[in-house]
Amino acid sequence: MDAKTASEMQPRLGGPCRQLALIEDVNIDALVPPGRRAVILAAHPGDEVLACGGLLQLLSHRGHALQLISITDGQAAPSRQSSPEGHSVACAMESTDSLRRLGIPLVQLKTIRGRFQAGDIENQENALLDFLMRHLRPNDVVFSPWRSDGSADHEAVGRVAQSCTVLLGAQQVEMPLNAWRGTSVDDPRIPWWRARKLALDITALARKRHAMNSQASHCLAPKTVDRNTNEREQLQLHWELFFV
Ligand SMILES: [Zn+2]
Repeated sequence: MDAKTASEMQPRLGGPCRQLALIEDVNIDALVPPGRRAVILAAHPGDEVLACGGLLQLLSHRGHALQLISITDGQAAPSRQSSPEGHSVACAMESTDSLRRLGIPLVQLKTIRGRFQAGDIENQENALLDFLMRHLRPNDVVFSPWRSDGSADHEAVGRVAQSCTVLLGAQQVEMPLNAWRGTSVDDPRIPWWRARKLALDITALARKRHAMNSQASHCLAPKTVDRNTNEREQLQLHWELFFV
């Protein structure tokens, strides 16, 4: 990697970056021990790329089995030209394309779609618990949205993931998504002591941008990906944050 080029791509230090500088770098083997399967729970299509597209690349290179569980097919209503089934197929294809753009072999990353109703997961938590209990294993490391992320869907998935991992004896790692936008670094709700950060190198960053560009907005929850990225969204591209 060209260090100068990479450093030029990093946002200027200030605000959230100062807090990030204090956070421990992620130790991949501690986060996902060798031989363990990593399961990513995405409340909405595309969440997995924004939250952990860099981590997925790293785990793929290290040969981990990867499982993506896409809980809903997105929040937008199908257009008049497409049926709900057509909309679901389009979202699944879009998700597959963005994972391909991350450079992850699809034979390595299995995908399951939950087809839960987006925007209403908090009212489907019992059904989601049953569904996840069928697909998770005690040895999994389960990456879920953070339980205090500020999005009702994300928080519901995080809560159910916690219940499942406790019941199974699996390990849960939480990922903030909306929290990057809605909170300041001084917000006492952010558990910085649990935070670990993954800084993306130039190759991982390029692939993540490439994957995000493949996502048509009709399959994504509102504001999940905003092309007019502000400072906090730029940070989200350069670093991935995990609460362990
Ligand atoms: Zn989402």
